[in-house]
Amino acid sequence: MGPQPRAFPVFQKLPELTQDALSYMPEKAPIRPRSAVWWTAAVAFAWLTTVAGAQKGVNAGPADPRIVSALGQVSAARLQADVEKLVSFGTRSTLSAQDQAEISAGHGIGAAREWIKSEFESYSRECGGCLEVKIDSFTEAVGERVPQPTKITNVYAILRGTDPQGAKRIVLVTGHYDSRNGHNLDSVGAAPGANDDASGTAVSLECARVLSRLKFPATIVFLAVAGEEQGLYGSAHFAQMAKSEGWDLEAVLNNDIVGGDRNPQQDTKVVRVFSEGVPVAATDAELRRIRNLGGESDSPSRQLARYVAEVGPTYDVGLQPMLIFRLDRYLRGGDHYSFNQQGLAAVRFSEFHEDYDHQHQDVRTENGVEYGDLPKFVNFDYMASVARLNAATLASLASAPAPPGKVRLLTKELQNDSTLTWEASPAAAGYEVLWRATTSPEWEHLQAAGNVTRITVPLSKDNAIFAVRSVDKGGHRSMAVVPIPEP
Ligand SMILES: [Zn+2]
Repeated sequence: MGPQPRAFPVFQKLPELTQDALSYMPEKAPIRPRSAVWWTAAVAFAWLTTVAGAQKGVNAGPADPRIVSALGQVSAARLQADVEKLVSFGTRSTLSAQDQAEISAGHGIGAAREWIKSEFESYSRECGGCLEVKIDSFTEAVGERVPQPTKITNVYAILRGTDPQGAKRIVLVTGHYDSRNGHNLDSVGAAPGANDDASGTAVSLECARVLSRLKFPATIVFLAVAGEEQGLYGSAHFAQMAKSEGWDLEAVLNNDIVGGDRNPQQDTKVVRVFSEGVPVAATDAELRRIRNLGGESDSPSRQLARYVAEVGPTYDVGLQPMLIFRLDRYLRGGDHYSFNQQGLAAVRFSEFHEDYDHQHQDVRTENGVEYGDLPKFVNFDYMASVARLNAATLASLASAPAPPGKVRLLTKELQNDSTLTWEASPAAAGYEVLWRATTSPEWEHLQAAGNVTRITVPLSKDNAIFAVRSVDKGGHRSMAVVPIPEP
């Protein structure tokens, strides 16, 4: 009766977490005969799968051999060298010295910044100058964790899209290259920050290295930000710049603590992907619509998370994305939030099991316990899998046509059919309608719509959540767009 939902990464780790949860559950769930309501719901649910031509299960389409070959270039040894180099600067505290003497001595955040820039430039030389390497520098005023006006510099490289129209679309990967130890204002003590967040910075660099060998119709930006540990200052400045310059920034992948710390509870086959539900930037009208129509799990960031979950298996990257439907972990934040605040789709990647002895700690041994964020705790093969997942997502999105524009669900009349309309995407060869039960975390069904901009599906819009995505001739899929109701 009804479809068997396929195993979804979001749930796969739950059994390990239920030991405590189980104690809150009744010993035996009462068994009741199934009611008329249950049967009606079951029949209705079965109907969701029986639309002619509809396909059960939604994936990212066929693997693109060019992308497969780029993923094959991702190197754990390169990632290790990058992390060790970043650690070699002693501290990358945003408050550490950045004068020429310290840069020349290879110490502090200024030296780290210059090295990141020179890495991007070396990748660019290898691809005939294909990367535009830039900095975004500003002075942060005095604040709670900024004792004096401090220069903060983001470093980034742009792989410009080859399609004049498509190049306006941008996808971005980021990590923060600043670090801290046990004292947020310590500007001189060792702060290796191997996992937090040399790992994320190295993922951004490695994506730049392997993807700069390819060309994409859309633009990819590889970013390393500073000021994260003082209050997300670098990413906030960058996201505001993107917004004020009118960038069509479609997706942001933030990697923070993706080193796969070598603790016994670690699961090297899982990376968590955090995404906000109700957008922090939603207007009052949008919030009303979300409340009225059950849109709490359909933010652009959540569509991006679902996209990551579909791309992972297509490219066999070495681990599974585990979607976490919340902005971030308890008591913690990250740079994706700066982009969310500007109304942009952004998700956070983090390892499955963090070890707090190896984050934000002074390097020391106490009672036989080693504290500190050191490279020896990082698993570079794991980082390579995370880098492949990021690169596969960036490359898929940058190869895909733009998502359909102005997707609408017609709601003028009471009808048991659902009619969707949209504006054509220039590079699309066709479109797909996706839907899922209102209680389901992931897209469950798909119907090819052909090269049209309107379709009527014999399903009640009251019982399902719909979306539309663009497909090009090569089978690259855009992110899904959930319609706005049009009365
Ligand atoms: Zn961090």
